[in-house]
Amino acid sequence: MRVLITGAAGFLGSHLADRLLAGGHEVVGMDNLVTGSRDNLAHLAVDPRFSFREQDVTDYVEVDGPLDGVFHLASPASPRDYLELPIETLQVGSLGTHRALGLARGKQARFLLASTSEVYGDPLIHPQPEGYWGNVNPIGPRGVYDEAKRFAEALTMAYHRCHDVDTRIVRIFNTYGPRMRPRDGRVVSNFIVQALTGRPLTVYGDGSQTRSFCYVDDLVEGIVRLFERGGPEPVNLGNPHEFTVLELAQRVLALTGSTAPIVYEPLPVDDPKVRRPDIGRARAVVGWEPTVALDAGLAATIEYFRHKLS
Ligand code: UDP
Repeated sequence: MRVLITGAAGFLGSHLADRLLAGGHEVVGMDNLVTGSRDNLAHLAVDPRFSFREQDVTDYVEVDGPLDGVFHLASPASPRDYLELPIETLQVGSLGTHRALGLARGKQARFLLASTSEVYGDPLIHPQPEGYWGNVNPIGPRGVYDEAKRFAEALTMAYHRCHDVDTRIVRIFNTYGPRMRPRDGRVVSNFIVQALTGRPLTVYGDGSQTRSFCYVDDLVEGIVRLFERGGPEPVNLGNPHEFTVLELAQRVLALTGSTAPIVYEPLPVDDPKVRRPDIGRARAVVGWEPTVALDAGLAATIEYFRHKLS
């Protein structure tokens, strides 16, 4: 296959590029480098099957030659980023998705949307199955991301129904691993960097809110399987093992051997109190489930940050 990845210089995009190249495919990467980094792709410079274009997917996009797939991953994805870039986040989710779908339609390529567990908002059903419609505050600060992705899902389904585009929607739950930015503001990177530099670990609220953390290799495997063998209905991808944020802080302290203290800071507005995927559909459709336990994934991520910080 020859595929386009929007957001290729990001955390997930760069791992997906690696995986597709390893599978023998040709990859065109696109990124406007607002939250992505060329460093994530530097190791691919020597691969003749990889090419990169610095471009904003909200502008008119043209790609020379045939395309078999479009993986639309471009978007700020850390709460810190989308709260700082609210309008860009709404634009890439709406206009950017429209451009990417238009390109897929023109090329008769399969299209995959990277959606999010944030479509469930602060969920009232737990764990979250795909049939749950969510509890999103459209005018709260997180609404810029949640509603952009909800709109992107609606547009993807409209292109599927009206234009017969072969589409996939994956709802990605909290994912972590090497190539997260040290200062992207997410909990795993924050805690690891804080622990390694001996600064206090910042737990927001009382730390009783839960998340379910999926290692990036597992996630990418799920994306590729669903792209190849899935259908148009949305599919959750995430690790169903649920932890409180305080438990995560304690795991990070134990695994780094850090003696940094824990401090408590205010909980962000509309921060979901619980989050855990029901992955029954991913299991049934493509036989996918995560294989990397939290401690093993954290150990690999800690190694990455140790190296990066030195
Ligand atoms: N969080 C925290 N300390 C931090 C960063 C995040 O306690 O330094 C909490 C945050 O309030 C949320 C959870 O960790 O409850 C996950 O936050 P993250 O930004 O990683 O992603 P989210 O799941 O909110 O999209």
